[in-house]
Amino acid sequence: MATRSFNHIPSEIIDEVRQRNDIAEVIMECGVPLKLSGKNYKACCPFHDEKTPSFTVSSEKQMFYCFGCQMGGNTITFLQKYENKPFIESVEWLANRVGVPLPTQDQKSKERAKKRLNLEELNRLATKYFHRNLLDSKIGEKASIYLKNRQVSNSSIRTFQVGYATRGSKDLLEDAIRRGSSKQQLLDVGLIKDNENRTTDRFRDRVIFPIIDERGAPVAFGGRVLSPDAVPKYLNTASTVLYDKSKTLYNLYGARSAMQKTRQAILVEGYFDVIRLSQEGVENVIASLGTSFSESHAGLLKRFVDEVFIVFDGDTAGIRATVRGLNHLVKAGLKVRVMMLSGGQDPDAFVLHHGIDAFNERLASAMNLVEFQIRRAVETGGLRQIDVKTQVLKDIADTLSHIKSRVELDQYINYTAQELDLDRAVIWQ
Ligand SMILES: [Zn+2]
Repeated sequence: MATRSFNHIPSEIIDEVRQRNDIAEVIMECGVPLKLSGKNYKACCPFHDEKTPSFTVSSEKQMFYCFGCQMGGNTITFLQKYENKPFIESVEWLANRVGVPLPTQDQKSKERAKKRLNLEELNRLATKYFHRNLLDSKIGEKASIYLKNRQVSNSSIRTFQVGYATRGSKDLLEDAIRRGSSKQQLLDVGLIKDNENRTTDRFRDRVIFPIIDERGAPVAFGGRVLSPDAVPKYLNTASTVLYDKSKTLYNLYGARSAMQKTRQAILVEGYFDVIRLSQEGVENVIASLGTSFSESHAGLLKRFVDEVFIVFDGDTAGIRATVRGLNHLVKAGLKVRVMMLSGGQDPDAFVLHHGIDAFNERLASAMNLVEFQIRRAVETGGLRQIDVKTQVLKDIADTLSHIKSRVELDQYINYTAQELDLDRAVIWQ
């Protein structure tokens, strides 16, 4: 008989995992700020939007319940609902948290998991090391001035654990070896590189942004140069065991609960865009870090939101490629809206010049993807040329082919027919 995978974990082990994980601790670790209220804990519900707390956690019963949206359950159900983890992964996560071995893991996967854990720990130490450098008034002076000039607050520096990689060629290497890491481990996480028998730090004299995965583990780093003429301007960790850029979004971990509440995400391009918006109170913001949008990215976002706003900086080069990437989002069933910023400004520069209210206004009038494709063709004046019109129609048809809802599709087709002055039947093909 075929058994579902969770049947492989005996119920007494599941019970043990539940008993050893205190529900209040786990929920707080997931980022929900619980406050003690009598015998129970209370918080504003992470599952629906509210101003007065109706989300209750009972340590005695080891259960949670929301009087607003009636969401409730135990520690495992909480992880399933809040983190969108399948049952088996939720149990595994809790088992790892308290060190209960599970019979589902064979020796090999246990070793792999241990190696991963060690590398994550190394990245955690490196995050702290870089951050300490930045906070040191002497070592981090130049980087601090740079960040101050870009109006990054101290609180943002803390929240995003921004750091500084010093100029020396082996500063991090030596520090990490002193703390017990091996050269191989440092190579494995991409913090150092081997060049013709010369081993050096990968990041030197750069502001460092740790890249955290959706479980909260640091998997990679991005470094920005301080002097305007140094290249490359941005340097990221290459692919490693921990880091696959087509599966990672910057700030996904930090933006999770805001995304879950609003069911919306704002997709920008870089570190400073994320930090600027977050600093101004817009917390559901993530960045693709210059990689084209992948199916895995779409899958990640789909776990948290229904709608994604993408911000284009008005630089038209590459927009077609980006739109093709965005079709992954449409395919995953997400609504995509596009907002344009004029004058080639990125969100960071736009908010600095025009303020967050102007940004939010633009956001409120963001176009859908089809509208955007048509509007852009109209603006560039190409629609009068037959070949351009054909291309636009082809691109739109590609987007439409991913829309599953018939009603929605019908509306888009009407709109496209009207705007492009075409017969509906032409688009249906
Ligand atoms: Zn609720």
